Amino acid sequence: MTTNQPKRVDVLIVGGGFGGMYATYKFREMGLEIQSFEAGGGLGGVWYWNRYPGARVDLPSIDYSFSFSPEIEQEWTWSEQFAAQPELLEYINFVAKRLDLNKHFQFNTRITRAAWDEARKVWVLKTEQGQVWEAPYCIMATGPLSVPKDPEIPGLARFKGELHRAARWPHEPVRFEGKRVGVIGTGSTGIQIVQEVGKTAGELFVFQRTPSFTMPMRNVPLEPDYVAEVKRNYAGIRMAARNSAVGGTRPQSTRGFFTVTPAQRQTLLEDAWKNGGLAMLGTFSDLLVNEEANEHVANFVRNKISEVVKDPVTAEKLKPRGYPIFARRPCLDTSYYETFNQANVHLVDLYEQPIVEITEKGVRTEKGEFELDMLILATGYDGLTGALTAFDVVGRQGRTVNQKWKDGASTYLGLMMEGFPNLFMTTGPTGPAALANIIRISENDVDWIADLMVHMEKTGMASAEVTPQAEKAWMDIVGGLAKNSLLLKAKTWYLGANVKDKPLGLTLFTGGFHKYREHCEAAKQDGYRKVLSFTARQVQEAV
Ligand code: NAP
Repeated sequence: MTTNQPKRVDVLIVGGGFGGMYATYKFREMGLEIQSFEAGGGLGGVWYWNRYPGARVDLPSIDYSFSFSPEIEQEWTWSEQFAAQPELLEYINFVAKRLDLNKHFQFNTRITRAAWDEARKVWVLKTEQGQVWEAPYCIMATGPLSVPKDPEIPGLARFKGELHRAARWPHEPVRFEGKRVGVIGTGSTGIQIVQEVGKTAGELFVFQRTPSFTMPMRNVPLEPDYVAEVKRNYAGIRMAARNSAVGGTRPQSTRGFFTVTPAQRQTLLEDAWKNGGLAMLGTFSDLLVNEEANEHVANFVRNKISEVVKDPVTAEKLKPRGYPIFARRPCLDTSYYETFNQANVHLVDLYEQPIVEITEKGVRTEKGEFELDMLILATGYDGLTGALTAFDVVGRQGRTVNQKWKDGASTYLGLMMEGFPNLFMTTGPTGPAALANIIRISENDVDWIADLMVHMEKTGMASAEVTPQAEKAWMDIVGGLAKNSLLLKAKTWYLGANVKDKPLGLTLFTGGFHKYREHCEAAKQDGYRKVLSFTARQVQEAV
């Protein structure tokens, strides 16, 4: 294809994570001509990029896998309860090969502009190589955590040692033996890195600003009998996941914290701690709305930190305070707190000594300079909205997503936006992304989009757009639910609080995945006419 000469297909798909993979498969199976793009050199999204030591999923692998193909469910066997990144990438490539998906993707290709041509009712996409593609439908499967964020610390470029970003980890092995390594960031990513790198680094300096609550993952190999049982029951497991708040099989309680005696609560929490994973979150129903209940659970975890960490001063510094447990994404670890008992591991409390700058030699705080051979950044993402504000996505009348979202993300179901006909997102902002299993959400979203396309083809519609009223009604639902949520009480990427000048707000649907699905289903009634406006094909042809 020559540069600038537009090539036309039926659907353009941006992103090669779980959402983009399933969209590519689904629309191909519907007989549509598709072209998919991925900035990375292969499929997998976060699992392609995040090759850092210790990267591992925090949902059970059985849940964290595609459900649309019973054949693949039977053919693939997970080795561990919580799979590590190499196995996840192997799974992704297995699925891609099995379904012959790679041929639809143009890799190493970033989209630099996407614009709606109202007269012709097509999306026109430009690649960074200067190619132009157009299609009536465009799917942004760009992911909620795909734009990594460097810390706003002066001097990063000055550092002469090895600099690694968790979310852009090299494909070649990185060695830590004998090196003085610094890690900035103690969210889910930093915690996974610290416990792994601490094993071999000469010295490890953990630069901690806000401590996270982390709980034991208690990962185990999956026994053949268990796997066989799962394979026999996949249909039921998937149905349970689709009907749950989290899109998985993790037990959810309907019991309020104060409905049981203090002794019973303690037993339940101890059991959850021993079971591992995110079991603690499911122990009581009100932990994200009842501050007092939440504080009890937070204290339970703080006490556990004291039991593990031998140095009482370090233990105190590791204890999160000032925000509710689970208001930041809860982390799972295998030996995080234990790592701080090692002589080679040092906690640097940035509340006590904020970082002033990165120097040629390392990190300078208000108290002195830490000389390092390697600096690792685990400083998070411009979450939820970052991917679609990083380049020009231009809707009707030249309005960009950046303009539309200048006061905060606004969408309908995290799937569509007023002003952006025929543009669809998977796991978009104001949907349940981050609070439920991203693969279940991706499948739900792609299926929803596919149903709408079928409806449009059947009824001869050229474009569909959510009405301003429907989008507002959805935003009211999202806002109304968020009002009572303790998620508002921590400075997190959920709220956009980690990105300078980003409008603050909880742009997540907190009502649970099962309820989200009900809203998606309800939209279809009456041929979508209560929520979408359509332009018929003959009207378009008359233009
Ligand atoms: P994150 O939770 O946003 O954590 C970023 C960390 O970097 C925070 O500790 C933050 O401190 C720190 N930081 C940022 N700028 C800094 C600065 N200038 N100086 C010092 N510290 C700074 O990011 P993440 O750990 O990459 O996790 C993001 C999400 O990815 C998670 O919430 C989770 O959803 C997902 N994730 C999942 C897994 C898994 O499945 N196991 C693993 C990794 C990530 P402050 O909080 O003080 O700003």
